[in-house]
Amino acid sequence: MKIHEYQAKSLFWEYGIPTTTDIVVSSPEEAAQAAETLGLPVVLKAQVHVGGRGKAGGVKVVSKPEDVAPTAEAILGLTIKDLPVRKLLIASAAEIRKEVYLSLLIDRGASKVVFIGCADGGVEIEETAKKSPEKILRFEVASKSLGGLTREECLPFATRLLPDPKNADEAAGIMVTMARMFIERDCSLIEINPLIVDGSGSVLALDAKVLLDDNALFRHPENLEFAKVETDGEDAKSNSNGLSFVQLDGQIGCMVNGAGLAMATMDIVKHFGGSPANFLDVGGSSDPRKVVGGFQLILADKNVKVIFLNIFGGITRCDDIVKGILEAREQFDVTVPIVIRLAGTNEEEGRRLLQGTDMIIAQSLEQGARKAVEIGKN
Ligand code: GDP
Ligand code: MN
Repeated sequence: MKIHEYQAKSLFWEYGIPTTTDIVVSSPEEAAQAAETLGLPVVLKAQVHVGGRGKAGGVKVVSKPEDVAPTAEAILGLTIKDLPVRKLLIASAAEIRKEVYLSLLIDRGASKVVFIGCADGGVEIEETAKKSPEKILRFEVASKSLGGLTREECLPFATRLLPDPKNADEAAGIMVTMARMFIERDCSLIEINPLIVDGSGSVLALDAKVLLDDNALFRHPENLEFAKVETDGEDAKSNSNGLSFVQLDGQIGCMVNGAGLAMATMDIVKHFGGSPANFLDVGGSSDPRKVVGGFQLILADKNVKVIFLNIFGGITRCDDIVKGILEAREQFDVTVPIVIRLAGTNEEEGRRLLQGTDMIIAQSLEQGARKAVEIGKN
């Protein structure tokens, strides 16, 4: 799961990875106010889920108060790699003496976590990796040892990035903190590009990119908050219905009871070559209205070609869920096929209610997923 720079930086603040002071805004007026609060110069940064914002005109340093609002307006009007800019980060601008690249990520091939560094930071690291692979530094850590990583262990690597002893020591401290945050928050990437030495000689993170492991969502319900701001206002709707909804970009609308099962459903859809259009947990209760609300969210997405319902009845009663589906079909013009797998409490009742409809009843999760993927491909 991608999170925004401002969200990543809020984690940096929490953990004590030094970065600039900032305020998130969504209008030129708020931008001007934020700049006044922070003091000029400030940097205005588009909050979109892509790199290379600088090159696309999404990062601008502003020194005059009268320039803040117009610059904010211009950036808010941008679409960067197809993503409209809705939020800006206003940060105290730093004086850059040196820019380097530092990240911590999972090397699945090596079954290790690895720090990647490059003394040429700021630029796109992929380019450097292609043109001058020898400049890319690696420091592998066995994942078991990550939690106990010490400053001393990090120092040789940090020194290759930032040879000045004071800077190297600060960078080593940042690496130890990154390791702790990586484990505690179940990150799959923490990338700082650039990590800089500022005008006063201090090392700090000027940019922040963090990926959170979706498979660990069950132990970080707070991470869903990060995702919610992404869903074009859908989040507000889903909140009021007591649903957990995250918009994705596939074709298969998924509706499931329980977050863990919802994730497993997405996994199995992917396993059979499909692509989920959303994460949707309708919760553990049997309220048919939630199912109706879920349909509303899924049907708002024009990419959806099929809806796959995976219901495991425990406290949830299958027949109540089916009542919700029938109600939704009355309320909305459901033109896409529905594949449904029912198991558990009142399964038989549920199946009976489905008789005579054109919904496709799957006998197993696997069969249902295969069917949904097959329909989704057409
Ligand atoms: P990205 O292009 O999406 O990676 O966005 P970054 O946050 O990395 O910003 C791109 C570039 O803008 C950086 O490499 C810096 O050169 C420049 N930049 C960003 N923030 C500041 C700042 O506070 N001061 C100065 N002088 N330049 C900045
Ligand atoms: Mn960057």
